[in-house]
Amino acid sequence: MRIRGPDEPFEMTANALPAHPPVHLANAKGTAGLARACPACGHMVDHRLRFRANNCDILQCSSCSLGRAETPGFDPAAYYTADYFSGRHADGYADYLGAEPVLRREFARSVDFIRGYRRGGKLIELGCAYGFFLMEAARHFEVAGIELAADAAEHGRRAGLNILQGTADEAKLRRIGPVDVIVLFDVIEHLPDPRETLALCRRQLNPGGIIVITTGDFGSLAASLTGTRWRLMTPPQHLWFFTRESVQRLASGLGLTVEHLDHPWKIVPASLIAFQLRRMLGLRQPSGVASAGRIGLPVNLFDAMRIVLRKAGP
Ligand SMILES: [Zn+2]
Repeated sequence: MRIRGPDEPFEMTANALPAHPPVHLANAKGTAGLARACPACGHMVDHRLRFRANNCDILQCSSCSLGRAETPGFDPAAYYTADYFSGRHADGYADYLGAEPVLRREFARSVDFIRGYRRGGKLIELGCAYGFFLMEAARHFEVAGIELAADAAEHGRRAGLNILQGTADEAKLRRIGPVDVIVLFDVIEHLPDPRETLALCRRQLNPGGIIVITTGDFGSLAASLTGTRWRLMTPPQHLWFFTRESVQRLASGLGLTVEHLDHPWKIVPASLIAFQLRRMLGLRQPSGVASAGRIGLPVNLFDAMRIVLRKAGP
């Protein structure tokens, strides 16, 4: 049986039924109500414990199916360092800089996709890493970025990009001013409070502006089949595991319309595929820098969503 943490509410049903305690307790582990404020639903909802991964409890909202990692004492600022992007963290990116050519090609495709919804104007990317996407977007948009990792932010600045270093808070968004497009590629699942950040984004958007998000799909077949070994089940790095329904609720609660949601194909650096395969199989990562940065392979496990949210026009 799971031990209750100091700040957690009691699992009410665990004490409610005295009959057949062993069977009941086994049952209660998966289904007992754990009340949490769900950022997608926007209020307190019962959650159920799905499983434990990397010593974090993974709970799921019983109403919208949003998954969440309970990560006591996790400090994002200490985690997203140069090591995160160079493969030294088990769950980080394998040789991100070395994969620039493949990443740039993929980001150019993302820019084309975005221009189907907004042809131009001002664009910001939250969590812009080394700025590879912004370099491609700059062909059509006036661009800016916010990045937590200092050395990644510095790399983008040296390339001439307008990048603010730190968390994406109100002060930084205000410094950038009103925008037409806000991009969060594989970022929303890292945010301590995704609802608050998206609310800030909405305020910063011009009427008719869009927010483009990519994130894993916890409701996908791949996620269901692989459970704790799902490639995106990497707490404490990933704190949230969205589903189609949780995206829908989060958006409508903030006055945004889901204009598009799909599971796109993606050109992925071969080095990243090898890195994730080794991690999944529990194999050691090679110590040298991978040289497969120029090789990209089309991949689709249909377990990641691409979403366009629109703020109502004038
Ligand atoms: Zn919910």
